Amino acid sequence: MGEKGLLLVISGPSGTGKGTVVRALQRANSSLRLSISATTRLPRDGEVDGVDYYFMERDIFKKMIEEGQLLEWAKVYGNYYGTPSHFVRDALERGNDIILEIDIQGALQVKEKLPEAVLVFIAPPSKTELQTRLLGRKSDSREEIEKRLKCMTGEMKLAGGYDYIVVNDSINRALDNIHAIIMAEKCRTWRQQSIIEQLSQPGS
Ligand code: ADP
Ligand code: 5GP
Repeated sequence: MGEKGLLLVISGPSGTGKGTVVRALQRANSSLRLSISATTRLPRDGEVDGVDYYFMERDIFKKMIEEGQLLEWAKVYGNYYGTPSHFVRDALERGNDIILEIDIQGALQVKEKLPEAVLVFIAPPSKTELQTRLLGRKSDSREEIEKRLKCMTGEMKLAGGYDYIVVNDSINRALDNIHAIIMAEKCRTWRQQSIIEQLSQPGS
């Protein structure tokens, strides 16, 4: 059997650059597949069902929770978000590498269920810079931005449960660090059993 795929979980405070990082990772490495989350939030302009999210009513989302169809789920800023389990598990079994871009509560649930998942916390270089980025993105009201900045303090306290922390100061430096993490994780001894077996055969 081939090696299992790598499950890379990218998370961190809102506005820290997770989406920017994930899009750039996908451009640089076309074999990384992004899991599409389920959500009860309404689509924003331009968002497409089945591409950006699986948009659904709350009762359907709750049914998915009850039926154990979600690898993790969380209520984030008033809406529910969750990762469909079957896509992730099937893809990993087939040897495909998967990225999840999810919130911190969800990331820690993934680590509990799949300890081999690699959790990367994207941190902002400073609180002021985070505020500048949230304002610059123009996607949230002042009130919403204040809420997200307040959440950041508590979220930083959970960063200790992650495998890696990458500070997104310059996007290129952050991407270099994540590529280094992916390369190192691919070289983990437990992922290299086939080469050990192959080269430890007498006479081979
Ligand atoms: P998140 O997905 O974590 O909420 P985004 O990827 O939407 O964050 O980024 C928030 C804003 O910050 C966007 O306007 C994005 O263009 C900008 N941004 C992301 N990374 C950087 C960076 N390294 N330097 C400056 N601006 C950045
Ligand atoms: P947005 O509504 O801006 O697309 O996402 C809001 C937050 O929900 C972001 O922090 C994003 O990472 C998080 N999120 C998106 N999908 C999931 C998911 O499947 N599970 C969890 N736990 N969080 C998610």
